[in-house]
Amino acid sequence: MTAVEKAEIVPGAVLVINAGSSSLKYQLVDPVTEQVYADGLAERIGEPSGGAVKHEAAGRKREIEVILPDHRAAIAQVVELLREDGIDLADAALAAVGHRVVHGGRSFHAPSVIDDRVRSEIERIAPLAPLHNPPNLVGIDAVSALLPDVPPVAVFDTAFFHNLPEEAATYAIDAETARKYAIRRYGFHGTSHQYVSLRAAEFLGRPDDEVNQIVLHLGNGASASAIRGGRPIDTSMGMTPLEGLVMGTRTGDIDPGIAFQLARVGEMTIDDIDRLYNKRSGLKGLSGDNDFRSILERVAAGDAAATLAYKVYLHRLRHYIGAYMIELGRVDAIVFTAGVGENAAQVRADALTDLGAYGIEIDPERNAERTDQVRRISTDAAAIAVLVVPTNEELEIARQSAAVVADL
Ligand code: AMP
Repeated sequence: MTAVEKAEIVPGAVLVINAGSSSLKYQLVDPVTEQVYADGLAERIGEPSGGAVKHEAAGRKREIEVILPDHRAAIAQVVELLREDGIDLADAALAAVGHRVVHGGRSFHAPSVIDDRVRSEIERIAPLAPLHNPPNLVGIDAVSALLPDVPPVAVFDTAFFHNLPEEAATYAIDAETARKYAIRRYGFHGTSHQYVSLRAAEFLGRPDDEVNQIVLHLGNGASASAIRGGRPIDTSMGMTPLEGLVMGTRTGDIDPGIAFQLARVGEMTIDDIDRLYNKRSGLKGLSGDNDFRSILERVAAGDAAATLAYKVYLHRLRHYIGAYMIELGRVDAIVFTAGVGENAAQVRADALTDLGAYGIEIDPERNAERTDQVRRISTDAAAIAVLVVPTNEELEIARQSAAVVADL
């Protein structure tokens, strides 16, 4: 990269960090111009056999194999790769580091600058998301050690749903037990649902607070939300990201009694059941595959297990669409997003087939079009607009982080 290109990193960019248990996704993005300076993924952190970083910046893509003993080593490696590309993070006048934090519990309704109090609160609620919040904290500490002068901000997956109506947020179990253990529906993927619903309203040329919509975030994780005038009134994920739609490897809704059978008769421990529900269920559990592209190929080839998995997936999806249409009463738009929702025309068509009586009709040509633009795939005559809106959680995290810091 030349000095001229380096100078183009406008002050105010945000480094977005999404830290998982053995991975760290990052993006350096300008929240105003939306320019992405760099992005990548460090994987297999902590594995003695070695890790890898996929990195793209300054117009070139690289993949390196490297031992990454911990998250701090991973972020140091990213800083070094950026330096080789002519980007010095310490000198880049970053506005903030925006960290995705999965669970904000009841404590966090909005993005928050991470000080000692916020950090210990994220730690306190970690038992609600044992697979997610602890690695998020590791990411926060690792980046703060390397970039101590850039304000760290936590953007919570649950925040958009913090005000769900109580009838949607409450589980019908003993009220005292629920209070004691913070058992309620929190919802997840909130950053995506928020971003996508705003983009959808913008596309329709209507104020967000006038649009009723159903957002279907269909990726490896999947969730649906019912949004009335900009405010979510229901969402399919619950106390944890296990509830709701059938996902790549997660069950979605199942009878809570199944756990009793597995424990009593199957002699499985809580951790066994946790792994089964999170890692060996959903499409993978049913068909051995969680990549939707291969599921669709196998369905086309007549494979029985993949066909059943696909039918179960669609059955659940249509179940939620129907429920949310009734909850909302009037629906202006149904919006598809994330890896499957944005790319799998067949899933969109099958999810909404035979709903003409409800004002839902997909135009096959529009649906088949391949573009990364926001677009309408329903016919002009259909009462409900069906849209495809590419999600961009990193950009939304960057925007929210920059906004919080600007308010300081
Ligand atoms: P995400 O979690 O949003 O990254 O989405 C990942 C999922 O999107 C995986 O199941 C992929 O197989 C699926 N996906 C990505 N591209 C396509 C495509 N062209 N057709 C079908 N599924 C896709």
